[in-house]
Amino acid sequence: MTDKEIVKGEEVTLEIKPGMNILEVNKQLAQKNKELLQKHNVKAIDIMGSIGAGKTSLIEQLVQALKQKYRIAVFKGDLTTTIDAERIGRHGVKVVTINTGLECHLDANVVARAVERISLQDIDLLIIENVGNLICPAEFPLGTEKRVVVVSVTEGPYMVLKHPFTFMTADVMVVNKKDLAEIMKIDTNQLAKQAKDIKPDMKFAITNALTGEGIEDLIKALEL
Ligand code: MG
Ligand code: ZN
Repeated sequence: MTDKEIVKGEEVTLEIKPGMNILEVNKQLAQKNKELLQKHNVKAIDIMGSIGAGKTSLIEQLVQALKQKYRIAVFKGDLTTTIDAERIGRHGVKVVTINTGLECHLDANVVARAVERISLQDIDLLIIENVGNLICPAEFPLGTEKRVVVVSVTEGPYMVLKHPFTFMTADVMVVNKKDLAEIMKIDTNQLAKQAKDIKPDMKFAITNALTGEGIEDLIKALEL
């Protein structure tokens, strides 16, 4: 069922007229996406995080753990490459690459275009890997039911404090590369506490995406 599809962001750019507020337009499109996905009983998850945080590895683990239970599709946002899409596609799920060109985030419009490439009645779970960046994805909801923010311990102790808006919009925080926490002198509980101060109902999973450790906690946090 693997099938390579690439959606080019620059081909589907919204026509922005003077006076239109791009964030407001995005919000409305996100709401439409949400309604469409709900109508087809598709659970959708947006995964945000910097380049190298481990988003793709986590998605590979999620797909492995859940592909018997759900029919899964993955949208993979990237500036230009299809490296991640190929990694995920090896697990036998449908992958649509969204190449955003110069854009450093996905928006609800490109996601709507990618949705047109899959048949929603054939999937139960849609996992969207956002472009590797912790800043602007916060402002562009995609219409997913849940948002996950992934940080890895190798990114240092200030990832939460420096990106409060991203954490405010997330439902679940993953602290990845837990095996390196000691070497990096990172207190994962401290990161979790900082996130909880920003988002009191945040759920957590501390993972090692390479071994699969903590993936069960992530699945639980996502209520999947
Ligand atoms: Mg990736
Ligand atoms: Zn951006």
